[in-house]
Amino acid sequence: MYPNSEQSKKLHDTLNACRWVYNQMVEKTNKEGFQTRNDLNYFLTELKESEKWLYLHHSKMLQMVSTQIDGAQKALIQLRKNGHKTGNLKFARFSEYNTFVYNQSGFEIKDGFLHLSKIGKTRITLHRQIPENSEIKQITISKSKSGKWHACVSCMIDAILPKIDFAKSVGIDVGITNFAYDSDGFVTPNPLNLQKMLKPLARIQRKISRRQNGSNNRKKAVRFYQIVHERIRNKRRDFLHKLSTQYASKYDAVFVEKLQRMNMVKNHRVAQKILDSGWGIFTNMLDYKCKMMVEVSARNTTINCSRCCSMVPKSLAVRTHRCDKCGLVLDRDHNAAINILKKGLGIFGPLSLSLPQELREVKPVEISTRSRKQEAACFSEW
Ligand SMILES: [Zn+2]
Repeated sequence: MYPNSEQSKKLHDTLNACRWVYNQMVEKTNKEGFQTRNDLNYFLTELKESEKWLYLHHSKMLQMVSTQIDGAQKALIQLRKNGHKTGNLKFARFSEYNTFVYNQSGFEIKDGFLHLSKIGKTRITLHRQIPENSEIKQITISKSKSGKWHACVSCMIDAILPKIDFAKSVGIDVGITNFAYDSDGFVTPNPLNLQKMLKPLARIQRKISRRQNGSNNRKKAVRFYQIVHERIRNKRRDFLHKLSTQYASKYDAVFVEKLQRMNMVKNHRVAQKILDSGWGIFTNMLDYKCKMMVEVSARNTTINCSRCCSMVPKSLAVRTHRCDKCGLVLDRDHNAAINILKKGLGIFGPLSLSLPQELREVKPVEISTRSRKQEAACFSEW
């Protein structure tokens, strides 16, 4: 979005209004316990009575804040059920609250402009054509850390269930040095965008710390720091988009291993590199781009021999898989990728009957249903 100064002010005002309503609702839920969406919407009407300025904003857009709180409350309850320690909902700070949602009404996209009710006609660049015969259900407006505005358009289209050809299947093993090694032997090195920029970032940080607190020069340096970080994020996403699109167009079924990412991050020596890799974003992208994407359990994928299934234990330092029983010599990650593919096909594909007993025991229970983010709650109410 390319808002002019007046629109930019209105966008900021809207964000602030939403945050204010959000925090009011957080206070209410913390004081009075669980609130249904109806309760929250009723509370919003009451708020409007005393705070007339809220009428300056699109009403359905403000109501979406209660959907957001509703989702957050339910996520908390779910966490509690899963045995996690949970506190109350937290108040949103200025720097943390960056999105608001126009749902079902109050928007129109026409001739390179996005019209938002109570905000105005903003010039936009459409990155993708909106599919014909589709209905726009929702527009999410977000502000990036460096101050750019983006609109994310959600459309409803008639989905045609894809036919899956299991001959076009692939298993992918992800790693730190090689981002992806697939069962067909194709290797993609890990770009590690953040790692490359650590030195320049440290330089900017030193600069920030030398500047006087509260001065304009310091603000400028901080902003530059955020721009560099945003650029790193963009580069990472660009890489992940290109790679996942490649896999989605080449294969029908893609199998990846289920990563216990949080456990791995505990090892601080590799934590930064793991987070820099963005495997989670990658599987997410594969999930929505591919006809079929399944996470299989990672158990024994590196140890088992992909030809004869005997166990070949190896430490992290051993990069080659050497099987004494059948004589298979293969790159360690390639072997793992083939095992992942076999596991996947063992669950779904034509191989399931011809596989040895131990692989057939892989139960569909191990297929993960990824927990949706809290925000996704906004989408469920169409
Ligand atoms: Zn073997």
